[in-house]
Amino acid sequence: MKTYGRLYIDGHWCVPASSDSIEVTNPATEAVIATVPAGSSVDVEAAVTAARNALYGWSTTKPSIRAGYMAQIYEALVARGPELAELITNELGMPIKLSQRIQAGLPMVVLESYIKLLGEFAFSERIGNSLVLKEPIGVVAAITPWNYPLHQLMIKVAAALAAGCTIVAKPSELTPLNAFVLAEIIDSSGLPPGVFNLVSGYGAAAGESLASHPDVDMVSFTGSTAVGKRIMVLAAQTVTRVALELGGKSAAILLDDADIETAVKATLSSCFLNSGQTCSANTRMLIPHDMYEQVVDLARQHAASYLPENPLNTQARIGPLVSAGQRDRVLDYIRSGLADGAELLFGGVEPPDGLPLGYYVRPTVFGRVTKEMKIAREEIFGPVLSIMTYRDEDEAIKIANDTVYGLAGGVWSADPERAERVARKLQTGQVDINGGRFNPLAPFGGYKQSGLGRELGHYGLEEFLLTKSLQF
Ligand code: NAD
Repeated sequence: MKTYGRLYIDGHWCVPASSDSIEVTNPATEAVIATVPAGSSVDVEAAVTAARNALYGWSTTKPSIRAGYMAQIYEALVARGPELAELITNELGMPIKLSQRIQAGLPMVVLESYIKLLGEFAFSERIGNSLVLKEPIGVVAAITPWNYPLHQLMIKVAAALAAGCTIVAKPSELTPLNAFVLAEIIDSSGLPPGVFNLVSGYGAAAGESLASHPDVDMVSFTGSTAVGKRIMVLAAQTVTRVALELGGKSAAILLDDADIETAVKATLSSCFLNSGQTCSANTRMLIPHDMYEQVVDLARQHAASYLPENPLNTQARIGPLVSAGQRDRVLDYIRSGLADGAELLFGGVEPPDGLPLGYYVRPTVFGRVTKEMKIAREEIFGPVLSIMTYRDEDEAIKIANDTVYGLAGGVWSADPERAERVARKLQTGQVDINGGRFNPLAPFGGYKQSGLGRELGHYGLEEFLLTKSLQF
C-alpha cells in the first residue's frame, strides 16, 4: 500500500495542516491501495497564496517559454504513461487496454495540442483604433471528478498554463493518485514554484474552501450538476468566473434510413464505456417505433459481448464501477426501471457471475422506456441503456431535447444532410453524426444544466483569458 503524506504547494512537498487522510480503494478488489492527505482550508490557504505569488512571474512569461515548460511535462507524461494507465485502472476500474488509450493517452494528446496552440494563438488583435489584449484571468481552482481523472485535470491544467494562469488543483477523493503522479512530473519539469499546486481532499472541506476563496479568480469545475450549482453560489460572493462541465442524459437518434446494426453497436459502446461512467455517454437510444423488434435483437446480441471482468485482463471491455456507493446507486436505478414497467432486455440487478469481489454491475438494457420514467430522466452514471421509440423525426427531436441536460448526442442516417438537419435541432454542446469520432481540438461543453463554458482547443484556452481594449 502506498502512502502519500504530503501536498504539493509552492514547489515543495509540504506536510498538511492535519494528519487526516483519505483511503483509496481498488474497485475490482475492494482493497485499500493507498492513502492521500485530506487537505483542509489551511492547506488551501497556503496553496492559493503560493499561486497568487507566482502569478505575476508566470503571467508575464513569453508564450514560447511557457510552451517549453509544458513540453518538459509532456515528455515525462509520455515516459510514465504505462504506469499511469495501470494506476488509473487500479483506482477507477477501467479496463487496462482502454486506460492506456484514453486515461493515459488522452491527457498527452490534450497537452500536446496546447503546446502547439501556444505557437499560433494571437494574444492580441487590432480592431480599428483599439488594441484588444487577451490576459490570463489569474489564480485558477481546478476541481475534478473521478471518471476520466487525469484527462479532466489535464484539460484544465494545460489550458490554464498556456494562458499564463497559476493553478490549485483538487482532484476527486475517489481517484486522486494520478494527480500525485502529475505533481511529481510537474515538479521534475522545473516549472516555477507556485504555478501548479495540488491539494487533495474532500469536496465539503478542501473543495468548498477553494471555490469560495476570495483570492481565486476562476473556478474551473467538472462534476455533477448538483455540486456545479453549489460552486456557482460559492463563487458568486466574489463574482468569480466559473466554468462548469456537468452531467448529461444524451440521446442517440437512429433515423429510419440508418445502418441500424452499426448504430446499435456504437450506441451500446458509448453507453457502456467506462462502465457507463461517462458524462457524454449516449444513454438513451431513440428508434423508429416499427423497428423495435429488430433493434431489441441487435441490442441483446451486442450487450452479451460486454462481460464484466477484472479490468487488468487485457481482453476486458467492462470493469467494475468506481465505488460501492456508485454501484448501489446504479442498482437502485435498475430497480426503478423495473418498478416503472420498463422491459428488461438484458442484465439486471443480480451480481455478475464469478466475481465475488468488486463493485460490478451487469450491463443492462431496458426497452419500452417512456419519458416519465426516472431512468429516462436522470443521469444514472452506470452501464444502463434506455431504448425509447418515436413515430416521426419531430417526435425524436422532441424526446431528445426533453431533458434538463444538454451535453452530447448522436444522429444516425444514411443521408448526412438529413443527419445534420436533425443535429442542428438538438439542444446540446456536441453531436456525433454516424459515430463521428472525438475531436480533441473541438470545443467540449454543455447547453442547459450540463454546464457553462467550453474546454479543449482555443475555446478552452479563451476560458482562462480576460479581454482588455486599449484605444489609440
Ligand atoms: P461530484 O460533483 O460529486 O464531484 C466532483 C468534484 O467536486 C470532486 O473533486 C469533489 O470532491 C468536489 N466537490 C464535491 N462537493 C463539493 C463542494 N461542495 N464544493 C467544492 N467541491 C466539491 O462529481 P463526481 O461524482 O466526482 O463525478 C461524476 C459527475 O461528473 C457526473 O455527474 C458526470 O456527468 C460529471 N462529469 C461531467 C463531465 C463534463 O465534462 N461535462 C465530465 C466528467 C464528469
